[in-house]
Amino acid sequence: MCGVIGLLTRREVGPDLVEGLLALQHRGQDSAGVLTSDGTFHLKKGNGTVGSVFNPKNLGRLTGTAGIGQVRYPTIGPGSVEDAQPFYVNHPFGVAMVHNGNVTNYFDLRRELMCEDFRQLTSFSDVEPLLNVFAEGLERTDLKHFSPASVFKAVRGVFDRAHGAYSVVALIHGRGLLAFRDPFGIKPLVFSQQGDEFAFASESVAFDRLGFHGFTDVKPGEAIFVDFKGKVHRSQIQPGTPRPCIFEFVYFARPDSVIDGIEVYEARLRLGERLAREVARQGLKPDVIVPVPDTARAAASSLASALGVELREGLIKNRYIARTFIMHGQDRRALSVRQKLNPVRSQVQGRDVLLVDDSIVRGTTSREIVQMVRDAGARRVFMAITAPPLRCPCVYGIDMMTRGEFVAKSRTVEQIRKVIGADALVYQTYEGLIEAVAGPQPGTRNSQPATRQFCTACFNGEYPTGVTRRYLAQMERERKRWPK
Ligand code: AMP
Repeated sequence: MCGVIGLLTRREVGPDLVEGLLALQHRGQDSAGVLTSDGTFHLKKGNGTVGSVFNPKNLGRLTGTAGIGQVRYPTIGPGSVEDAQPFYVNHPFGVAMVHNGNVTNYFDLRRELMCEDFRQLTSFSDVEPLLNVFAEGLERTDLKHFSPASVFKAVRGVFDRAHGAYSVVALIHGRGLLAFRDPFGIKPLVFSQQGDEFAFASESVAFDRLGFHGFTDVKPGEAIFVDFKGKVHRSQIQPGTPRPCIFEFVYFARPDSVIDGIEVYEARLRLGERLAREVARQGLKPDVIVPVPDTARAAASSLASALGVELREGLIKNRYIARTFIMHGQDRRALSVRQKLNPVRSQVQGRDVLLVDDSIVRGTTSREIVQMVRDAGARRVFMAITAPPLRCPCVYGIDMMTRGEFVAKSRTVEQIRKVIGADALVYQTYEGLIEAVAGPQPGTRNSQPATRQFCTACFNGEYPTGVTRRYLAQMERERKRWPK
């Protein structure tokens, strides 16, 4: 998963792009990059967080009133600086691009571009094939009579050749700012206009920081091109079949964002309410409810109210330790759970504690936390998870790529409970997940759930774009080649 941003304004955009990327930092900490244009492209990218890549000196060189940026969260490949975005090609015009997602026919596309189209690719980033397919499509149009139609034709070429999930923002030198979202709209992408200033971002939270009020989603299969005269051109390039990633609501997105019309915080509150039913069904009567910070906080609070049990911050997070999941290697992950979280003894001692977390992937976090809370004197430790068991690899950009990674792969809930060492384990049901995230039908109050569809592949293996066994096997191999 990554975060992208694009701005076309009347001011210098460098500082605002960096500010927007800071608001999207949770979407990736492996690399950060910004490209601006003032008649010439100016690029700064590097490995690390936004704060470690940008400084007043390099920011001073990022001049211009239009630009794009990205924070990267690696899923495949070596994660070296060559893979940091933005990428650009010089011809035609000069096109720079960033994306969020994962191109599932990446290897085929890469081979085609290099062997048949004789284009040189320099990285393992899948934005590079997207960029080259787009540039090639644009090249085939009448460059002397450039128009939004030429841009949309080139985007159609991308939709024809690239499969998978991609939310893209691109800058076409001297022409305008472009954004498009794959026909299933798997990854989020939002658009905002404030007078004659324009912004695209992965999540609306970036707009809050930049003073853009009001926004719309880029629709699945849609492209929006804002020309340098400030005119907005929108085109539904392919009929969209919305399947937004449900894991954004469970874990990934910031709670203060709104994605595809659903407020993430509200969705998490509903997940907690639904989970309360499952906890009650199992007859569990905890003395205290403790969220695993940070994502599960909202769900734990609504779960606690629904059960009438007190909520306590019984686990404290050291905010200076990076996300454990992104720390590569199993031993480092277990160690860093302990570095990151510590129990508050007084809140758990002698009590039956219900821990609430958003998901279990490998089980490392749950196992360490359960033991930690037990060591701090809890009588019994229950675990409730706001999502159902994760069982299938995500091929669209979330870092869970191989079946072997999932503790739930071929285990029953009871077996998983034993692995994590809890006295009870409760998962959200699949129906509960869908209904909670979809929310009530507009105009009704919690009575009738809205009918919406999502990408739920990580829970049930139903991939909206379809995926071949060959690709899944290839992913496993690549993953072993570049272990995380
Ligand atoms: P694990 O220890 O492998 O079971 O990971 C589960 C923990 O990682 C949970 O506390 C989640 O909040 C978090 N998590 C789940 N999925 C991801 C992901 N794709 N990237 C980063 N963290 C994640």
